[in-house]
Amino acid sequence: MKDFKTILFAVDFSQSSDYAFQFALSLAKKYDARLLIIHVINEPVDLRGFYVPHISFEKLEQEIEVGAKKMMEKFCRTQIKDYSKYESFIVPGIPYDEIIKKAQEQSADLILMGTHGRTGLDHVLFGSTAEKVVRKSPVPVMTVRFAE
Ligand code: AMP
Repeated sequence: MKDFKTILFAVDFSQSSDYAFQFALSLAKKYDARLLIIHVINEPVDLRGFYVPHISFEKLEQEIEVGAKKMMEKFCRTQIKDYSKYESFIVPGIPYDEIIKKAQEQSADLILMGTHGRTGLDHVLFGSTAEKVVRKSPVPVMTVRFAE
């Protein structure tokens, strides 16, 4: 079997991805793998300058990025105690697409994610990220179901 040298974990800061992360961390430790953690800021429909002035949109995007970075820092601080071979990434775009792109770009051997994540409008509009990654990724995917 192929070694897991690089594992990509997709985080949406839900309870389900917190749970799935325990599997990613323990696999990374077992294989002494690089653990890459990605969060994708869902790109809104491009309405710049149409409903709101350009400047308000840019300000909003900056605030979203600052908030996402803070959430990622907190996630890493609370979830990773004794492992240093990790890196985090925050990118804008369509989550399933960016997750697969990052896995290919970083030559990941495995993508690990939850089976469900944050609920709400995002989910209604964009559907299941896990399902799309499983269907489209050329990189093997492991999903972890969170039983409430
Ligand atoms: P979903 O299928 O959309 O309910 O989400 C399932 C899993 O996909 C989550 O537990 C995360 O692992 C991952 N995921 C969902 N949205 C994102 C996102 N915006 N960025 C990174 N990972 C995500």
